[in-house]
Amino acid sequence: MLIPGMPDLGEEQGLWLHASYANHSYIPSVRHSFAGNMLIFRAIHDIAAGEETTISYTHTPEDVRDRREMLQKGWELHCECPLCLLEAKTATDMLEERQRLIEEWRLVHREWDAEIRGGEPANDEGV
Ligand SMILES: [Zn+2]
Repeated sequence: MLIPGMPDLGEEQGLWLHASYANHSYIPSVRHSFAGNMLIFRAIHDIAAGEETTISYTHTPEDVRDRREMLQKGWELHCECPLCLLEAKTATDMLEERQRLIEEWRLVHREWDAEIRGGEPANDEGV
């Protein structure tokens, strides 16, 4: 649904009052999707009475620095979800080594995918 005066960003736009109470977490308790102009929440795991309902406002970049920058720019939010808190305690060299291993794995995956597809390169989105 387009809101008068707002640009068409090619995605659902609107104001869902109840949904607006959900805070952000990279380890959310619900996933959200749209059916027409309805916003649907579906629990990812059991949610205890009184437990906060959280959604991920964005996709989840692997690099903690990218995630923090995205949330800061988009929502002026400093995320303190369990994933971000854990990574804040993780040494920088370990985070860099993790990122290096992810990139290495991507290269291997692309080579395997190209072999399976008979030389067609995999796109960068599909991992
Ligand atoms: Zn977080």
